[in-house]
Amino acid sequence: MIMKYARPTSLSEALLLLREPDTIPIAGGTCISREINSHISVVDLQDLDLNEIHFEKQKIQIGATCKLQYLVLHKFLPEFFRKAVHYEFPLNIRNSASIGGLIVKCDGRSSIVTSLLALDANLVLEPDHDQVPISDFLIKRPAILKNHLIVSINVSAPQVFYFEHIARTPLDRPIVCAAISQWKTGRTRLALGGYGSQPVLVCDGENSENMQLAARSAFSLANDAWASSEYRSEMAEILAGRCIDNIQETPKGQ
Ligand SMILES: Cc1cc2nc3c(=O)[nH]c(=O)nc-3n(C[C@H](O)[C@H](O)[C@H](O)COP(=O)(O)OP(=O)(O)OC[C@H]3O[C@@H](n4cnc5c(N)ncnc54)[C@H](O)[C@@H]3O)c2cc1C
Repeated sequence: MIMKYARPTSLSEALLLLREPDTIPIAGGTCISREINSHISVVDLQDLDLNEIHFEKQKIQIGATCKLQYLVLHKFLPEFFRKAVHYEFPLNIRNSASIGGLIVKCDGRSSIVTSLLALDANLVLEPDHDQVPISDFLIKRPAILKNHLIVSINVSAPQVFYFEHIARTPLDRPIVCAAISQWKTGRTRLALGGYGSQPVLVCDGENSENMQLAARSAFSLANDAWASSEYRSEMAEILAGRCIDNIQETPKGQ
């Protein structure tokens, strides 16, 4: 239950309010509104101007309170990233939920966070203005979030980004998904999602030779009510193969 509500208009004011006990940020509120058993104070982030996407010199900066549907519609973001956002939730939740709130609460089935992991996104945290790789953030979420606010998600635009997924219905959250990024330097990153408490990074390097096998192996114990580990391993290898083929077939230098 929300006991106290504040809507600051500056970041410094918000950070000050967040120092109070039992006080947490609220963005879209889709998750917080379901927390009926705790007594909390909330600091609403909607007036902090963190809802824009900026591009500069191949750097993409996504404000933490950008709604997911805004990302789907943003033509400058990679096409397959926008598809991954589309698969995350139905339209009504995409219209409310923010990218920051999603990263805080995501599990392994998040197509967006799988994509951000492949994109090697960095989270900018205040008050220290630290840049934390999303891979580190996912491992240490509760410790990092203590008294910290995600203000933006920064990505170095890749030359190619591709996303593949398998789900029970075309618009369901994935049972297995794979995302791949390749930059001009040849650096290639592959991540898998669809299982567990967070997506997993499979490879980060210049050699894509063993990526399919690595994907198979990464899901060799990925067994739950949605799919067996045998099925997931098999599908992870196939999806990784499609991602690699797509990267190899995409004309470079665009
Ligand atoms: C019908 C329905 C179905 C859902 N299904 C799923 C599902 O299948 N899987 C799933 O993972 N979630 C699900 N959710 C939960 C929710 O939609 C997502 O987790 C959502 O992305 C949260 O985003 P939000 O902006 O609404 O966050 P909020 O509810 O506002 O906040 C979520 C958490 O993140 C923190 N937070 C928010 N913004 C920041 C920030 N900038 N910096 C630091 N902390 C921040 C808040 O303090 C809070 O702890 C569902 C919700 C609904 C209503």
